[in-house]
Amino acid sequence: MGTPVDFGYKSYNAYGAYLRKKYQGKRVFKVIVDAGFTCPNRDGNKGYGGCSYCNVDSFTPELSRKLPTIREQIEQGMERAIKNYAAERFIIYFQPNTNTYAPTHYLKMLYDEALSIQPENIVGLSIGTRPDCIDAEKIALLESYTHRFDVDLELGMESIYDETLLKINRSCTHQELEQTLSLLQSTKLDICIHSIFGFPWETKEMMLRYADEINRFPQIKFVKLHHLHIVKGSIMGAKYHREPFELFTLEKYTNFLAEFIPRLRPDLVIQRLFGLADYDLLIAPNWGLKKSEIQSYIDKTLEQQGIVQGSEFVMSPTISV
Ligand code: SF4
Repeated sequence: MGTPVDFGYKSYNAYGAYLRKKYQGKRVFKVIVDAGFTCPNRDGNKGYGGCSYCNVDSFTPELSRKLPTIREQIEQGMERAIKNYAAERFIIYFQPNTNTYAPTHYLKMLYDEALSIQPENIVGLSIGTRPDCIDAEKIALLESYTHRFDVDLELGMESIYDETLLKINRSCTHQELEQTLSLLQSTKLDICIHSIFGFPWETKEMMLRYADEINRFPQIKFVKLHHLHIVKGSIMGAKYHREPFELFTLEKYTNFLAEFIPRLRPDLVIQRLFGLADYDLLIAPNWGLKKSEIQSYIDKTLEQQGIVQGSEFVMSPTISV
């Protein structure tokens, strides 16, 4: 299990504090790359139509969706981050769709190209994918970069319940995630798990159990927590229009996090506490705040409530979902 990270001023291991410590105070930013991948849950290989909450356009800001080449996306992404945030170092983030869904030699070509652009300023590579699109050969390819960069492999878990995965047309079971995690037991990659809270049929108790499930895999280093939001162009969006259902308010979601975070293993680093699609794509819930305002509301509330990550952590070797 990893070493606990300095919490800085927050109630939890925040990714920002982790990056500052790891890169000696340098300002590190992710640059999103859309390499034109598709997804096996869209092209028929595993399923059609995609996960019911997914509109792939909601992954990326408007600007990066229209940029044609990897080089242009990275150069312009770096330029924006330098101009707007005084960024000094970069993590190249292959985000939209399934970024290991191609033959390994083709992946190598794409990753090599991306990492050749201002390599002196790149500290990391981050790859978003599905658990069923990773195998030993792809793991070896990603590990081959770890002598020069930190490599973060982000796996979509979404829910720990197969019943939910079926309902959202995920075309991937929880067991497939477990199998992939067992391939990654002693990996040099930093494993990140992405999860979604707020499917209307899951109770709070069911969602709190995600923490127990994540905790039992020591190879997981990062988590991205996300409330369910409904975006235009998704199947769930069409259903929501016909029959709206209850979604988290900011207050309720924060209260949920206040119960969830204490159950999380103390060494896990939280990359994200919520998601926010572009407002032109977002149907609901619209909390009417900027990203920084949401972050600040959550952080302040957690701090006021005296929340401490890991304070209720109990290691359970196996849980049955
Ligand atoms: S969420 Fe990911 S796996 Fe699901 S359809 Fe969208 S890109 Fe594919």
